[in-house]
Amino acid sequence: MIRLNDITKYYTNKFVKTFVLRRINLEVKEGEFITIMGPSGAGKSTLLYILGMLDTASEGEYYFMDEPAHQLKEKERTQQYHLIDEMTVYENIETPLLYKKVKSSERKGMVADMLDRFNIVAKKGLFPSQLSGGQQQLTAVARALIIRPRLLLADEPTGNLNSKQGKEIMDLLKKLNEEEGMTILQVTHSEEKAAYGHRIIHLKDGWIEN
Ligand code: ADP
Ligand code: MG
Repeated sequence: MIRLNDITKYYTNKFVKTFVLRRINLEVKEGEFITIMGPSGAGKSTLLYILGMLDTASEGEYYFMDEPAHQLKEKERTQQYHLIDEMTVYENIETPLLYKKVKSSERKGMVADMLDRFNIVAKKGLFPSQLSGGQQQLTAVARALIIRPRLLLADEPTGNLNSKQGKEIMDLLKKLNEEEGMTILQVTHSEEKAAYGHRIIHLKDGWIEN
């Protein structure tokens, strides 16, 4: 599904290059569940941004489904969607279905199922600013999962949740991976959550350490 060849990312400031990722080589097969760990500033989020095509590498090649993603132009890449402040929880979760042109009758049931599954039925009419950090995170995860993506890139998906909610989300990811073959790359600082993955990639100072 994913192949990175010598991916390097640096920022240039006054002719000084600061390296964030260094010669990253990585292969991810469809159906894998991978954990990325490493100290703050190691380059974990940058790596996920590049994999999600929200950002581009400075050097190297990125093949996604055998297509050269490193050759995509800005407009062809992904755009990031935070929760939209002016939309309710319900509308935020429904948005990906509108892009996918899912019929109105089907949308209702799908959103209701997600609200139910994430225990946020009572919050469906509220706006993100009226939610706790944990409820915002649940809403964001529900929105990401409602279209059943083949690849899920999750940067500390349970970072704002309490341990019970966190475990529920991790169990859900595990289920989606096992039963539907969803490929998952998660960043986490927790050993317990890391153990949900099949293998761990350790990043440090932009290098893969394993
Ligand atoms: P992590 O997610 O592992 O904490 P990040 O990928 O967010 O690390 O950041 C890695 C490094 O890249 C950090 O040192 C950060 O300061 C640097 N960095 C990120 N974005 C920029 C930028 N736009 N300009 C300069 N440095 C950046
Ligand atoms: Mg980060």
